[in-house]
Amino acid sequence: MTEHTKTDGLPDVDSSTLPQAFGHARPRTERMSGDKVECNACPVLCQISDGRCGACDRYANHGGVLVRVDPVVVLRRALAQEDASLVPFAGRSRGELAAPDAEPRTGTSGEPVTDADVDDAVTPAWNGDLLRAEDVFVTGVGSSTTYPDYKPAPFIVSSKVRDVDMVTVVTEGIFSYCSFKVKIDTDRFLGAEQANVRCKGEVVGHVTTAEYGSQMLSLGGVHHLTGGSKKEGRITAEVMRELGNRQAVELTIDGGAQLVIEAGKAPIVNGVQEQRMRVGCGSAAVGIFAQQFAGLADEVVVVDDHITGVLTEHQAGRCLDMPRSGIQMRGRKSTPGRYFQVANPGTGWGGTDIADPLSIIEGWDEGVARPGLRLLMTSTTGEHASWYVLDDALRPVEQTMPTEVRAIVERIGANCEPSLCTVLFLGGAGGSLRAGVTENPVLLTRAIKQALVNVTCGGAPAYVWPGGGITVMVDVARMPANSFGTVPTPAIVAPIEFSMRLADYQALGGHMDYVRDLGEVLHSGAWHNDGAPVSLQWAPGGGVNPWPLVNGPQLG
Ligand code: SF4
Repeated sequence: MTEHTKTDGLPDVDSSTLPQAFGHARPRTERMSGDKVECNACPVLCQISDGRCGACDRYANHGGVLVRVDPVVVLRRALAQEDASLVPFAGRSRGELAAPDAEPRTGTSGEPVTDADVDDAVTPAWNGDLLRAEDVFVTGVGSSTTYPDYKPAPFIVSSKVRDVDMVTVVTEGIFSYCSFKVKIDTDRFLGAEQANVRCKGEVVGHVTTAEYGSQMLSLGGVHHLTGGSKKEGRITAEVMRELGNRQAVELTIDGGAQLVIEAGKAPIVNGVQEQRMRVGCGSAAVGIFAQQFAGLADEVVVVDDHITGVLTEHQAGRCLDMPRSGIQMRGRKSTPGRYFQVANPGTGWGGTDIADPLSIIEGWDEGVARPGLRLLMTSTTGEHASWYVLDDALRPVEQTMPTEVRAIVERIGANCEPSLCTVLFLGGAGGSLRAGVTENPVLLTRAIKQALVNVTCGGAPAYVWPGGGITVMVDVARMPANSFGTVPTPAIVAPIEFSMRLADYQALGGHMDYVRDLGEVLHSGAWHNDGAPVSLQWAPGGGVNPWPLVNGPQLG
């Protein structure tokens, strides 16, 4: 059980008798027992007993010192898997502050920490060879923070990259204004636009627009985090953390489907794992495969919830000089060979609610259609396909599909990309978070918009939205594992880093007194010991991500 005691309204202690250090407030009440420390990393202000964690499980009281329990994740390019070790920071001691004018650091025994001690402590994964500094990047994952950011970010790291002095400001942002945009590659009907999306009965988001072959969901957001009941906020935060940490989440959509979604995995819709993303709408599929069908079929209908395509009426069939088949379709004719609303949305053929494709054929023009006419009906993924021949009464009779036609249907399937869930974190970082970077926050915003500052989340490239503020969007699959946390306010905790030239940092009012070089940071951690991580975790960097220190921002 966590310690989480609200004490607002109790009498203050006499603050004049207590030492004041930047970064740790005096206890709010004399009733706070002596073995507790107050966590000041978020407005909940947990009072934590020795050996216990606060309400978010991210901060703990270790022998009277508030620590961030997870290691800060440091990326290194070309890191071998066996080197991805946990390394304690050297020289962290109780109550020690590493402010610019702090006393020299001491070890746990109270002895001053020497360079040799430091080297010994970090040798397993870092031998002090700063020639490789260009290959190291300190991320915000596990770095700690405060909300609001009334003190400089915990890590403000300088390094030299291609002979240029760079600096990276590293923190864990606490985001109330944030959401996840989930792209689900599927033809199945998931729910009507604007329908509520629920988890454990609570509304955590809504269905938004369908995109080509995909359905979009918006999950989380300040409205659900803080605008409803406590339970709604708590479950919304849980769903967001799990999605961000690439875990599976079960959701239901009002009037729609039951879903299991997980970043980078195929969605499970009503208990069935989706396999393929459609090759295109019915009209697109007709266009793509028209030439291959010519001569093998007299008519092809590609059934689709959006646009059902009819080959001989379609421009593709006309260009191939295919004679009209006389088929009469249900639905609303859009343009030649393209029909809207042939059926309702569903989980049947082509994302419609039909199991029998013939149900969307109204009839045949007796003056045009003829017995023996060969008709293929297929869905946009090729998962459903049937072959018919018209009898003397112009009724389609299902027959065995010819091998050549089957091969084209299989090619439709082969051209479909695997169905995936893609999870994008979208957060507004324009609030107090900037104060951890600069004393003049608007200059940070402007510098980002001028492409002077790269923004990354856990080292992953963040797309910066146009317009005011710092609104960033990042693919969680590119971020380190377990990048996201929550606090009970409720809000999401996510890593964010700002990298720029040291000269630009100075020009935008950066906290220059707190800039520490990479070697020092790797040796001893954050500039303060009040809620800081006590170790670092090496992780492989780069890969699909551009290296943060040599890349500009992805500006919208
Ligand atoms: S960050 Fe966590 S431990 Fe600290 S006050 Fe907030 S909820 Fe409590």
